Amino acid sequence: MEFSLGMPAAGEPTTDKLFDVIVIGSGPAGLTAALYAARAHLDVLVLTGSEIGGQVALTSEVENYPGFPEGVQGPELVQRMQEQAERFGARVELDTITAVDFQQHPFVLTGYNGNYLARAVIIATGASPRKLQVPGEAELTGRGVSYCATCDGWFFQDKEVVVVGGGDSAMEESLFLTKFARQVTVVHRRDQLRASKILQKRAFANPKIDFIWDTVVTEILGEEKVEAVRLKNVKTGEERVMPIDGVFIFIGHIPNTGIFQGQLEIDERGYLVVDRRMHTNVPGVFAAGEVADPIFRQVVTSAGMGAAAAMEAEKWLAEQKAEQEEREQERAVTA
Ligand code: NAP
Repeated sequence: MEFSLGMPAAGEPTTDKLFDVIVIGSGPAGLTAALYAARAHLDVLVLTGSEIGGQVALTSEVENYPGFPEGVQGPELVQRMQEQAERFGARVELDTITAVDFQQHPFVLTGYNGNYLARAVIIATGASPRKLQVPGEAELTGRGVSYCATCDGWFFQDKEVVVVGGGDSAMEESLFLTKFARQVTVVHRRDQLRASKILQKRAFANPKIDFIWDTVVTEILGEEKVEAVRLKNVKTGEERVMPIDGVFIFIGHIPNTGIFQGQLEIDERGYLVVDRRMHTNVPGVFAAGEVADPIFRQVVTSAGMGAAAAMEAEKWLAEQKAEQEEREQERAVTA
């Protein structure tokens, strides 16, 4: 491995330059990895992807990230994380990686702006909202169908909306939507919520939120915008059409691992497989956050994984450098 190239100076293009560590993704995992790697005096580039700040940037309030006893707005939290990483020299750039080559070293990452070269890579590409996959959903997305209450809630002042899902996201976002909507109806496929007790309690206590149990949305109806949903009771089979202004879907997430197919080990649910030290099956490629975490999926656990991945990347790079120096010394002795 070659260690002679330096980090591009500020303003210099970053494509075709060699970095110690490139972090793909800019959510809590990616930005924490960048902070730790930069503080270890590594040359770090973060490529943000199209969802800058990751999912938490689309969240209203984060109440369970330690250090913020009053809670903190999601966008503010990631903005602070970015500033902290940049303070120690990490470079954060807007580009989306569309292909990777982990067969050669330095690794080659291809984005819209060109190729990037990295001695080590930390993947923190997160996850994207799961789709209902019912007729009308794709056609009416952005016209009444949404996956982000923080982004779109404002458009539903004094309107009636449906929220699909029974997890923490569905409850948290339903509560947020009550700031705007006249009525929020949660449609859940079972008769019990998956959400944590504290969020359940708040949702049940809110007079603007009601629940339709054991029911799924089978179709979203509307010409120019959402006008109604077709509902089906999964126990009785009974169907009905419910007039509505908006549909917010919070039914979980799918890890963003498409570009790593064929290059890295991926489990049957689509998550990157990492060991306890955040190593993927390719030496020098690490993963952190929701892309590799089917279990916890919290801001704090993603940040923790990011820190661990960066510490491991630093160690791996140091080992590689030591091995290279040993080889050079042997060559000098035998020459
Ligand atoms: P989740 O916990 O996986 O819940 C997804 C919900 O959608 C479940 O209620 C599920 O129903 C339902 N669902 C899944 N597929 C469906 C389909 N095809 N049709 C209808 N309903 C469907 O996802 P999440 O709420 O996005 O939460 C993800 C993670 O982030 C969790 O670990 C959660 O604790 C965490 N989170 C935490 C907070 C917080 O602590 N404040 C906030 C947001 C998220 P079933 O219940 O029947 O499976």
